[in-house]
Order: sequence, then C-alpha cells, then structure tokens
Amino acid sequence: MAVVQKNEVREGEVIDLTHEGHGVVKIDRYPIFIPHALINEQIEYKIIKVKKNFAIGKLLEIHEASEDRVTPPCVYYQKCGGCQLQHMTYRAQLDMKREQVVNLFHRKAGFDRTTIHDTIGMETPWHYRNKSQIPVGKNKAQETVMGFYRQRSHDIIDMDECLIQDDIHNEVMNKVRDWLNELQVSIYNERKKKGIVRHVVIRAGHHTGELMVIFVTNGRKLKQSQTLVDRLVATFPNITSIKQNINQTHSNVIMGDESVTLYGKDQIEDTLSDVRFKISDQSFYQINTSQTEKLYQKAIDYAALSGEETVLDTYCGIGTIGLYMAPQAKHVYGVEVVPEAITDAKENATINGYQNTTFVCGKAEEVILGWQSNGIKPDVVMVDPPRKGCDETFLDTLLALKPQKIIYISCNPSTQQRDALRLSSNYDLVQITPVDMFPHTTHVETVAQFVRKDV
Ligand code: SAH
Repeated sequence: MAVVQKNEVREGEVIDLTHEGHGVVKIDRYPIFIPHALINEQIEYKIIKVKKNFAIGKLLEIHEASEDRVTPPCVYYQKCGGCQLQHMTYRAQLDMKREQVVNLFHRKAGFDRTTIHDTIGMETPWHYRNKSQIPVGKNKAQETVMGFYRQRSHDIIDMDECLIQDDIHNEVMNKVRDWLNELQVSIYNERKKKGIVRHVVIRAGHHTGELMVIFVTNGRKLKQSQTLVDRLVATFPNITSIKQNINQTHSNVIMGDESVTLYGKDQIEDTLSDVRFKISDQSFYQINTSQTEKLYQKAIDYAALSGEETVLDTYCGIGTIGLYMAPQAKHVYGVEVVPEAITDAKENATINGYQNTTFVCGKAEEVILGWQSNGIKPDVVMVDPPRKGCDETFLDTLLALKPQKIIYISCNPSTQQRDALRLSSNYDLVQITPVDMFPHTTHVETVAQFVRKDV
C-alpha cells in the first residue's frame, strides 16, 4: 500500500536529489520525487501520481529555500523540456554532476582509489549550443510555430529566444518562422503524418562564424525553397551553407539519410584549438565548442603522448580527437560507423597536413578485431561511444590488445561505470574529470583515465 494518495497536499524536507535533478522527500522509506525542489528545502507539495514504490509530487510552495536556489532566467523554463536545472546556481549544478559520478564510481562500483576531480564548468554558461534542431508545427490558429517540446510531450512551445542556443540561431529561428508563415509553406503535422517542413536545423562554427541552415522535409518538394534561400542569404551575411534534408520516416529521428545543398558549400568549417575541421550535416560534432577544447585537452593530458605512440581513436566522428593528437603520436587509427563522418575525417587529416592517420568506416567492435589480426599494437586507446556505451566484444578485444592507457570519454557515466568494471581486471581506473558540456541540463560528460596494471 502506498503511503500517500493522489491530490493530497503534504509538507516535508527535501533530503536528496535524483540524477534528473528532482528533489526527494521520504515518508517512512517511501520516496516522493518533486521536480524543481532542492536539497534541504522545506516545501509544500501535491501528490500528482502514485505508484507502488514511489510517487511524483508537484512543488506548491517553498517555506525555506535552499542557498542554491536562483530565479530561472528563461521565461519558458517551467514548461520547456530542454533545461532541467536553471533553478540551481551554476556552482550547485557542477557539484551535483560530480556527486553523481562519485555515487556511481565510489559508492556503487567500489572504485575507492579513483580520484574524481571537480567538474570543469564554463565561465559564462549560456548560448553555448552550436547546433539547434528546432521542431516546426502549427498552433490552434494555424500559425507556424517554432521552439522546443513541452516536457515529456511533442507539443511545441513557440519561443523567440532559447538561452542555451547560440544567439545567431535565435535570430535565424525568428526570421524563418516569419517567412514560413508569410509564404504559407506547408508544415508537417506529426499526428496526420502530412505536410512538408518538419525541423529547421542550424549549425554554427563558433570559431569561424560559418553558418549552416538545414530544412528537414517530409518529401522533396519545397516550393518556396528559392525564396527562403534568397532571404536567408540577404539577411545573414555569414551563411555558408543551406541544405534540405529529406526525412519521410515517421519516427522521432530528426534527419533522414539524404541531403541536397540548396546554397553554398556542402559542409561548414570550424576550428578547435589550431586544428581545422569540415563538418557535414550528417556528422556528429560536439555541441559546446569551448568546453570541447577543455575536454580534449584533459584527454590529451591523460594520454601524455611522447610522439612514439600508436593511438586508436574509436567512435571518432569527424576525427576530432585523433587529429588533435596526431602531432604528438606516431600513428593514429580512427574508426566510426557514419560514412559521411569518415569522409570528413579523411578530408580533415588532409587539410591539416597530417600524414600519420588512417580512418576506417565500420563498427568499432568489428574494425578493432581487424586491427588486432593485422598486428596493430596500440599504446593508447581513446574511447568515446554513444550513450549505450561499448559492446562487450569491443572491451574484450581492448583487453587483449593491452594498450598502456585507455582514455574513455562518456556522455553517460552509468554505462561508463559498467564498462569500467569490465576493464578493471587489467586496468586501474586512476582518475575521472567531469566536464560540463551541457549547462542547465542534467547531462553529465566525463573523461576517465585507465592505466594498465602490472599483470
Ligand atoms: N569522438 C567524436 C564522436 C563522439 S560521439 C567527437 O568527439 O566528436 C560517438 C560517435 O560514435 C558518433 O559519431 C557515432 O556515429 C559513433 N558510433 C556509434 N556507434 C558506433 C559503433 N558501433 N562503432 C563505431 N562508431 C559508432
């Protein structure tokens, strides 16, 4: 029997925070999760959902506020599902992210001797996103709206400013919305699966200022494309590339496989430190440019290359990490599953003048087996997988290859912890640094250094 009932109003003290940033109040040992409540606060809340093992509450009033509480600067914050932590000071967000890593690695997995450093934060943690994927829809009055999804829904909140996306993206978003309305461009209706424009994706090179705008469409025909191109080019002098991406699937995946260039170049360019990168619309590129430089620098510090090492850059995207390391390595081998990203990686090696790199398209878990049978003996392996972490075969091959160091970058510390346990037979997990790539959201990124034991 649950100890609370729906619609009941209660008072209590918040004793913990979940990894989603929700406050936790307990009655006996039964937890109630309350979004926007902070640790140590005395609050009044209403029960809105009751389950066997937990309940969800809605924050009604704060009797005693935490020192970590701030007024969220974004006017859409209470509704939008994009940010979750704007009601916390930035310092508290950074501490919370470190605490999560401590919890996973020290308390749960017993890596007691691993040093977990402070989270590396941003000086000004706003307007950091270099890529925005903005859904387009219609409101009840049949006007075109652009913005972000309401929490746990696909209702679009029409907005004219998102505080975490690049300012230029906000300007493009507002102009494009006006033009889509004025030109009566057909807009995709997710429920009826009809209509044309689904998303507008904007990418900016933060160091070069180059700008790419992509219209994601359900079908090829975008009648007004020339007018949209002419207006974008006339309004935004930095525009480098305008594309149309065709996505006729009815899934939540934003981009389809096929893109055509409507104006300018096929890729935009950006730099990280002194390295220049071309980025295709389909390729992964880290969202927060200035934090990426700090993340990669930490990875380089952990690798401590002397110039003699063979380095593997696994899950390499457009080759950013490997190319960062190439000047300090004997040879870099990169592997990535997206073909466009590997094309970019090869081109990026050429434009930076590096001849000591090899990039291969394929699954890391398969390509690494080929490298093993070809007798490649890596000294350092960089690992940067998607959220689901690494495949077991991949980790077992890594163990068999016996590199001196493994540097594992992760956007999901819980799968990183699982993979760390598998590596721990032969490797010491020496240190982990969380790097805040996504301020005001609950996302935690980490870079971990594993050093081979004398086995
Ligand atoms: N290291 C890059 C990319 C990291 S994101 C950077 O810092 O920019 C993770 C990358 O892994 C993505 O580019 C994704 O396409 C790729 N990927 C996902 N599954 C893969 C697999 N099984 N094998 C190789 N690459 C994979």
